[in-house]
Amino acid sequence: MAPGESSQHNTLFATDQDCISYLFQKRWPNGFRCPFCNRLQSEISPAHTIVCRYCRKQSSITANTLMHGSKKSLTEWVQVAAQFCFSKEGVSARSLQNSFHIATYQTAWNWLKKLRKAAAIAESAPLTGPVLLFVTTTGDADSPLRYISNIACLMEVADLPKQPTRVRLVSLLGTPQNPLPHIVKYSIPTSATIITSESIALSLADIRLDYHIQTTDSENQKAIELLQELQQWMSRIYRGATGATYLQGYLDEFCFRHNTATWNNRLAILDHLLTGIMSGHAIPQDKTTLDK
Ligand SMILES: [Zn+2]
Repeated sequence: MAPGESSQHNTLFATDQDCISYLFQKRWPNGFRCPFCNRLQSEISPAHTIVCRYCRKQSSITANTLMHGSKKSLTEWVQVAAQFCFSKEGVSARSLQNSFHIATYQTAWNWLKKLRKAAAIAESAPLTGPVLLFVTTTGDADSPLRYISNIACLMEVADLPKQPTRVRLVSLLGTPQNPLPHIVKYSIPTSATIITSESIALSLADIRLDYHIQTTDSENQKAIELLQELQQWMSRIYRGATGATYLQGYLDEFCFRHNTATWNNRLAILDHLLTGIMSGHAIPQDKTTLDK
């Protein structure tokens, strides 16, 4: 973190009212719109709970977001989101539990799971093509790296060598047979170019007319670097004990960190995560690979 950045976000989010104003604007950028009767009431000032002028129903700023039903204050949510964004290595449930005086490890763990979901939502915008697509393999069920096997990797291909590019990683463990067409359709706009191997191209036969599919079997240096980065990060963060079910959360966090690593403005990264937190259920229901 650059000097001053911590105090910058502490000033911006000092009180619950500061958080309400900020998050209210995020949720209703054009002014409050009642979720029940859909009427716009831009004159209503930011508040935690709002009563609709027309239908008299009460709404809350946190309803249907990832904060839905949470007993934590908005300030605590922003602080924990800041810790998630600003810690270089990632945060563990144990460190969250200590920093925020959370009674049980399980509660801290659930909170962290929500932050990872927010990270996934924040990064759910489609990749822009051309996109390199490959699936990781270790070829050995007993390998210590088996947890990073069987992951679909989608990487934007840069026009220029130093241009930052986004990645998306989707665990294929426990997915239905041939989940790749579904993942591609969710992640890559139609008509984009997909660069992939002959064998993956075959598995995309059903959607081949929607994309420009180029095949190559040469190893890509960027792909190798991405896997090294993933492996190093996972070896520091992932304890393995939680099993495959939770793997996707770690991959989502990795992608969020990777994709925002070149952003100079740390507050923009926090804002990005808060967008995910406020969007709540924005991940399309048919994204089955994340619904395990
Ligand atoms: Zn209403």
